[in-house]
Amino acid sequence: MKIRPHHILCIAHYEGKGYSEEFNLKMKEVIKRLDGGEEFSLVSGADDLCSSCPNLINGVCKTEEKVQRYDKTTAALLGVKEDQRLSKDIFDTAKEKIYKKNKFDLICSDCEWSYICRKYSEII
Ligand code: SF4
Repeated sequence: MKIRPHHILCIAHYEGKGYSEEFNLKMKEVIKRLDGGEEFSLVSGADDLCSSCPNLINGVCKTEEKVQRYDKTTAALLGVKEDQRLSKDIFDTAKEKIYKKNKFDLICSDCEWSYICRKYSEII
């Protein structure tokens, strides 16, 4: 399984809302696989979630510049690198290094879904 860095945050706070029904089904599948102990590789471009997203055009996100910015900041704050193998433990790392340190707004405050993640940022 391949996951891009900022999707670690999207997965951690997923509450059933997504870009399409196909995307939601894929998100649920990915979460189930992670909960089952499956590891994933960190990638710098389109990942397993993107493959079911209507915003993926010819293999590239239609907001690629923006999501690359999210990816770079997320990876830097988590201290992870491309091709690194990770497990769901990374969600605890995100809680410690991003949410508890109020770094969330440095990453993706202009995302349409940020109101969901911000709720968690405020309650941690
Ligand atoms: S294609 Fe873009 S909008 Fe869709 S899941 Fe991937 S990064 Fe997010």
